[in-house]
Amino acid sequence: MNQAKDLSESVIFPKGQKITNNYFVGGAWLEMLVPSDSPLHCPIGNVTFEPGARNNWHKHPGGQILLVTGGTGYYQEEGKPAQVIREGDVVQIPSDVKHWHGAAANSWFTHIAISTNIHMGDTEWLEPVSDEAYGNL
Ligand code: MN
Repeated sequence: MNQAKDLSESVIFPKGQKITNNYFVGGAWLEMLVPSDSPLHCPIGNVTFEPGARNNWHKHPGGQILLVTGGTGYYQEEGKPAQVIREGDVVQIPSDVKHWHGAAANSWFTHIAISTNIHMGDTEWLEPVSDEAYGNL
């Protein structure tokens, strides 16, 4: 019998600390694997979302790469349908494209987030993904 993996303690990399900023709906955790102030200028974070959790709409001036390490989630660019993304998927997010990412309603979800071209500027956080929009996925 297939049994869903328990991802509540993340997978592979540490779960890290619960995110306490206002840019997420639901519980999410972050462990920086490569810190933002590293001379390599390539911050990498492990992000764990509880079921239903997601980040607000946002833009990365220099883009972002997501490596999905566990569970089922969503990636959506403004004006396009949300894509279901799963363990093993790679998402290349272009510079300044408005988007959000997070867990499916019934699945924990983990991804590695790689910040690219960080000299182009910091993430611009926008409005939350409403319960109505999320509920219609
Ligand atoms: Mn992003």
